[in-house]
Amino acid sequence: MATKASKRLIVFDTTLRDGEQSPGASMNLTEKLEVARALELLGVDVLEAGFPITSQDDFEAVRAISREVARPTVCGLARCVAKDIDRAAEAVAAAKRPRIHVFLATSKIHREYKLHKARGEILRLAVEGVRHAKAAVDDVQFSPEDAARTEPEFLAQVVEAVIDAGATTVNIPDTVGWATPEGFRALIEHLFENVPNIDKAVIAVHCHNDLGMAVANTLAAVQAGARQVEVTVNGLGERAGNAALEEVVMALGTRSDVFGGLATGIRTELLYPTSRLVSRVTGLVVARNKAIVGENAFAHESGIHADGVLKKRSTYEIMDPRSIGLAKSRLVLGKHSGRHQFRQRLKEMGFRLPGKEIDALFFGPFKELADRKKEVFDEDIAALVESEVAHAPETWRLLRLTVATATGGMATATVELENLLTKDRKRDAATGDGPVDAIFHALSRLTGVKLKLDDYQIRSVTSGAEAQGEARLEARHGDKSVSGRGVSTDILEASAKAYLGAINRIVSSRLATKKRKRH
Ligand SMILES: [Zn+2]
Repeated sequence: MATKASKRLIVFDTTLRDGEQSPGASMNLTEKLEVARALELLGVDVLEAGFPITSQDDFEAVRAISREVARPTVCGLARCVAKDIDRAAEAVAAAKRPRIHVFLATSKIHREYKLHKARGEILRLAVEGVRHAKAAVDDVQFSPEDAARTEPEFLAQVVEAVIDAGATTVNIPDTVGWATPEGFRALIEHLFENVPNIDKAVIAVHCHNDLGMAVANTLAAVQAGARQVEVTVNGLGERAGNAALEEVVMALGTRSDVFGGLATGIRTELLYPTSRLVSRVTGLVVARNKAIVGENAFAHESGIHADGVLKKRSTYEIMDPRSIGLAKSRLVLGKHSGRHQFRQRLKEMGFRLPGKEIDALFFGPFKELADRKKEVFDEDIAALVESEVAHAPETWRLLRLTVATATGGMATATVELENLLTKDRKRDAATGDGPVDAIFHALSRLTGVKLKLDDYQIRSVTSGAEAQGEARLEARHGDKSVSGRGVSTDILEASAKAYLGAINRIVSSRLATKKRKRH
């Protein structure tokens, strides 16, 4: 067991639960399975797959992931009530290593205003919940919600009681992102000093980033003896997010002088590809200056820095970009590159695709791009894979797009689509205030899906006049929020693909709901 003396940290990933809860990050079942497989490959120890009681979708996702992954423990979240715990138990039943994670708020403000319960009642419920879960699985985790704002002496009582009741991991969450590194470290130390049976469980931490201190708080707790860190890829999560997996892992490795050689089982060379995957699947863009996996994290613009790095890397670079899987060769495929070269490049970039998909990419979009663009860079290939490998099942495909603009800003777009389910082709034209507006109108009319745009952005994937443009958008359809992404050397085509991608997500979730209702 990873108790205080252990040098091995347990990485508990909650990208699919806390991360998926963040606005605009919802994933369908196919996407969740893809992320789960990537997390297994990355080497996470525990995979929190969802909160089964909250919806049929969540339940099914946790069940499917339990069947799918072999190595990590699969965990389902439950409030501290019997029906939640039973539902979580059912969802993780098929896992090789199932875990149930029960939570109950313990802070004064939550006790008084949310739960209307006194301390004694909270203690009794926590113990009952852990016992109930323990009847279904051996591996039970308990979280006193809002622990960071709970009175330390009461928190110690709760931790002792749930360990006695059979909890094998006790997680100390900073649910609202209120803690500071010094205070949080002191809280964990307080528990190690005042909970007599603490060596019978792993102490975990779960930190939120509301004040930008999630990673710092997590690392401070580790120094105090916590041996499980709860993290998400790209720091996804409620509000400002959770502690970022890649930041915690790279800080431990890069500053092992400070962290006493504590290690995780993460294969760091998969951090970058996994970050890209999660960004693509959720549609949430990683900030350029984000630590470790941001586009600029290893870019040296200033002349003095670039010169230093050329002479000796470590003058300005504290990590080797290859250690996170960032391919450094600026290399360059083109029209004459063969299939083998293309396959090799994909492998080096961390994409694991079936041969059939690689061939489809090579003979289709790659050839097409190489015709339009002399040099094909890594970024182009990544954009290609990310936009072409279909993840939300594709219903509508863009066949043709013609746009005419006139003075005064009016524009007309003529669009031809194919419905891949019925094989029908449809064509229509629409006008708009500008070309993009006209395209969106035409697509909505053809598919019958109206979207309300929240955000729409264009950027170039690489530099130069023939660079590919990437369009991303966030939109709403009723109460559902969706994202879409499209890449092309033509920004209008990229925009059309992004809008159609969002429409395909809406259509595929409607189809899934219909299918379920029939059962
Ligand atoms: Zn959380």
